[in-house]
Amino acid sequence: MSNLAITRSNFNDWMVPVFAPANFILVRGEGSRLWDQNEKEYIDFAGGIAVNALGHAHPVAVNALTEQAQKLWHVGNGYTNEPVLNLARQLVESTFADKVFFCNSGAEANEAALKLARKVGMMSGQAHKNQIVAFKNAFHGRTLFTVTAGGQPKYSQDFAPLPEGIQHTAFNDLDAAKALINEHTCAVIVEPIQGEGGVVPATREFLQGLRELCDQFGAVLIFDEVQTGVGRTGSLYAYMNTGVTPDILTTAKALGGGFPIGAMLTTDHFANMFVVGDHGTTYGGNPLGAAVASAVYGFVNTPEVLQGVKDRHQHFVAGLNTINEKLGLFKQIRGEGLLLGCVLKDEYAGKAKNIVTLAGEEGLLALVAGMDVVRFAPSLIIPFEDIDEGLNRFARALARL
Ligand SMILES: *Cc1c(COP(=O)(O)O)cnc(C)c1O
Repeated sequence: MSNLAITRSNFNDWMVPVFAPANFILVRGEGSRLWDQNEKEYIDFAGGIAVNALGHAHPVAVNALTEQAQKLWHVGNGYTNEPVLNLARQLVESTFADKVFFCNSGAEANEAALKLARKVGMMSGQAHKNQIVAFKNAFHGRTLFTVTAGGQPKYSQDFAPLPEGIQHTAFNDLDAAKALINEHTCAVIVEPIQGEGGVVPATREFLQGLRELCDQFGAVLIFDEVQTGVGRTGSLYAYMNTGVTPDILTTAKALGGGFPIGAMLTTDHFANMFVVGDHGTTYGGNPLGAAVASAVYGFVNTPEVLQGVKDRHQHFVAGLNTINEKLGLFKQIRGEGLLLGCVLKDEYAGKAKNIVTLAGEEGLLALVAGMDVVRFAPSLIIPFEDIDEGLNRFARALARL
């Protein structure tokens, strides 16, 4: 291996150009602070895109990883293991679900959910019960099935022919959904808050209406909680705040706190429609990922941490409003818990990415959600002083726009 120093331009040399990362390289993190190759410090309001629930290098996660690393990494699905069963128990005991399927990402969790829904439709004995209803501007991942379920044609159109039987309608428009859902519908897939689509919360009435329509027509209701799950909204899962219980829930991102893992949760009734051989994955439920997720999930699933997310929300939104009173760039600040979106006024439309670049220069990591929304998804336990200092840096970046 060469000892030559790695630089940002090496990305352009060697990486398939599907990403356009910032022009600095992060090398180290602790809590909600990170440092780049030049020892410049950043405050992390991005959280690795709603992943680093405990920030960086949290001892709970590090210990779980290193302890398990010395015991057992991988055995394959011919053998089960203790960490995965412990994690399954935690998920089952804390949610509506009776059964869990483990995989390695959000897209894989949704792929499993959509395949299960098709199997449920097939097993119903009704002809052509295979239609999936999804929503415009939704994001469900990048496999061909999940990117087709997502409601942003720009992500799927170049990869035609696409899987069939997926229909899209307007988010938060129950009448439009009513017009599409019928006896041929096997599933409705929805995010309780559209994350990538701009941090847009679903209304309670919308989710409740979808639940009723699914019950009426025997369709499976899938909540994609890949972004909203594991404490992000101040509830363990966002569905818990809606009065609606899905039939299938997908979770990933924060579940491993930075170690790749995803899961599909469902009831016994639906789980039992899959039989041995119907679906699978080599790495899903490996001991290493499961041990880390078990520690992270256990840490998050306490009243203190979940209340802490709500307290941080108040503090964060108050700070953002103060900034906005001075600078007036945003027409709305929305979201729940620590999933926040600052919606640019029309005269600043399209500038979200510029703001994130300027924030980086000021020592702040932030996210976009589309072209008009600056998104924050920091650690669930970010210190209040890091919120304040990050907001100072954000204000400096906005002033330069
Ligand atoms: C990020 C995301 C996904 C995809 O997860 P990956 O781990 O990138 O495959 C799916 N659904 C939602 C709501 C997401 O935010």
